Amino acid sequence: MPIEQRERTLVLIKPDGIQRSLIGEIIRRYEQTGLKLVGLKFLIPSEKTVKEHYLSNEGWLKSVGEKSMAAYEKKCLKSPYQDPVKCGEDVLGRLIKYLTSGPMVVMVWQGNEAVGVIRKISGGTEPLTSDVGTIRGDLTIDSYALGDTDERAVRNLIHASGSVGEAEKEIKIWFQDEEILKYRLVQESILYDVNLDGILE
Ligand code: GDP
Ligand code: MG
Repeated sequence: MPIEQRERTLVLIKPDGIQRSLIGEIIRRYEQTGLKLVGLKFLIPSEKTVKEHYLSNEGWLKSVGEKSMAAYEKKCLKSPYQDPVKCGEDVLGRLIKYLTSGPMVVMVWQGNEAVGVIRKISGGTEPLTSDVGTIRGDLTIDSYALGDTDERAVRNLIHASGSVGEAEKEIKIWFQDEEILKYRLVQESILYDVNLDGILE
């Protein structure tokens, strides 16, 4: 299989997505792109797995802390944190509470530019500012302001890997190699075939 067809990304439908009855709608949007679903699970994650998931990306604690502190400044508020890593640790604590609160759907999608395509459809992290037409922009209403006021994680329905490197690490946390299925989708000949010479009789 050519290299571009092998790119993989991890998607979690977080507990709010399940409770809002959005499993079908979210999968529909990803499925319609032509990407191939190669892994699928329904589970309640352990605290250990969630921690491993976020800490698998080196520097995540600091960068998420910096992002969160900058969000306060943008609103002309003073962040209660001085140290981005400490702030990141608190964001992680809130995410653990959020993700272990109920069942989640865990998926691997595969195909050309899978990471970028899935991120585009998912939308930006904060639902308030995610683009119209994206899952986070269309299907929910949370904001950092509300999450921070209530000292909880922003409820944004999904997680999607941010890069190919992130995806590779994250997939290993949620799936054994043999749980990722290798199969052909009929539509792949339309998406990827160079000559499209198999259509006419
Ligand atoms: P994603 O890749 O778009 O999901 O976002 P990140 O990996 O940067 O952040 C992961 C999670 O951390 C998000 O889903 C949020 O719950 C939380 N988070 C990220 N940035 C901020 C922020 O600026 N403020 C707050 N309060 N939480 C944040
Ligand atoms: Mg991320």
